[in-house]
Amino acid sequence: MRRVAVLGATGSIGASALDVIARHPHQLGANVLAAGRNVDALVALCHTHRPDHAVIAEPALFGELRAKLADAGVPTQAHAGMQAIDELAAGDACDTVVAAIVGAAGLDSTLAAVRAGKRVALANKESLVLAGELVMRAARESGADIVPVDSEHNAIFQCLPALDGRATRDTRGLRRLVLTASGGPFRGRTRDSLRDVTPEQAIAHPRWSMGPKISVDSATLMNKGLEVIEAHHLFGVAPEHIDVLVHPQSLVHSLVEFVDGSTLAQLGLPDMRTALAVGLGWPERLESGVAGLDLLAQGGRLDFETPDFDAFPCLALAFRALRAGGAAPAVLNAANETAVEAFLARRIGFLDIAALVASTLDAHGGGAVADLDGLREADRLARAHVTRRLEHAR
Ligand code: NAD
Ligand code: MG
Repeated sequence: MRRVAVLGATGSIGASALDVIARHPHQLGANVLAAGRNVDALVALCHTHRPDHAVIAEPALFGELRAKLADAGVPTQAHAGMQAIDELAAGDACDTVVAAIVGAAGLDSTLAAVRAGKRVALANKESLVLAGELVMRAARESGADIVPVDSEHNAIFQCLPALDGRATRDTRGLRRLVLTASGGPFRGRTRDSLRDVTPEQAIAHPRWSMGPKISVDSATLMNKGLEVIEAHHLFGVAPEHIDVLVHPQSLVHSLVEFVDGSTLAQLGLPDMRTALAVGLGWPERLESGVAGLDLLAQGGRLDFETPDFDAFPCLALAFRALRAGGAAPAVLNAANETAVEAFLARRIGFLDIAALVASTLDAHGGGAVADLDGLREADRLARAHVTRRLEHAR
């Protein structure tokens, strides 16, 4: 029996993970559920999934969580605070962690799970963008198996052979990775036409149903940029061997090309339960609730085009940060998170997201970093930089 901690249980990935887990009551159990601040949603999940532990990240909500669990007659133990999430992720209550907190807030619990040698089904790409070298080194040291759940990386994981029977992939003979991108809701539009788009338009993704932050990232193509950095760390592939191809149908989830001219791809309907089933079951295949792919029913076409770097400058910014190394990816990520929050709050326009990330990289992206504290400082400086720019703009 795999005992699973679902971190970010009330989110989009959390819901997909719990759906897969509930299909396998004899193999999988959701034993720890963690969420940010939505107590009612967390209690409802505890009612359905009966975990031993529930954690709310916001410490002030501890009393409310405990009381509502008791009112609901659920025997789940209540906890609060980010540290409690880290401790439960690393502790005996689970052997597998679904890392699905959004943003840099997910780094500590991801690292805690990796250091404790857990199976980590990793959705939280920001932790790899921020501290990919540290996370991957910690996994090598502890023996933790990181199975990427981001659909593109999950596709690549499935296309590359295993090294030593572990989650680590064998990249010998690999020529390049090709990450596919849906292109988001604004594919085909010019830069100028994007000036006045609203958060509602940006969040209305044509193929995937996801949380608000990653939906905006998909609209700016920053999501693909973050994924290039994520792929670099997960598979140890240099940026010049990672390409991006826009594929509007979102059926081919990514491709790997080998030196002999072979290209392998993984295909499937755009439903994250497939990747989560791989993350939870690997090396076994689990029923996920996702139907097989009928290409004729899907229109019988697979289209590909090059990304528009002019309309969507975030993709180039991410490549720039990856090549620069040091503090740059952490700065890119933090500036983007802060800018996306401001866009969702209607404080800035869509094009300001990329402009703010660029100016923050100019100001703070040049530093070297020695350790986690250095990365946290780069993250803090980048957030402060964007916040100052927002205040000046008022
Ligand atoms: P979401 O906004 O739907 O859910 C986020 C979850 O994180 C919620 O449960 C929220 O309560 C929790 N959370 C937020 N701040 C927290 C904090 N400080 N401490 C603890 N919990 C906190 O987001 P999502 O779409 O599920 O995405 C989650 C992660 O998975 C992101 O990193 C995203 O990039 C990645 N991802 C998502 C998808 C997708 O299809 N949704 C695909 C690939 C990767
Ligand atoms: Mg993805």
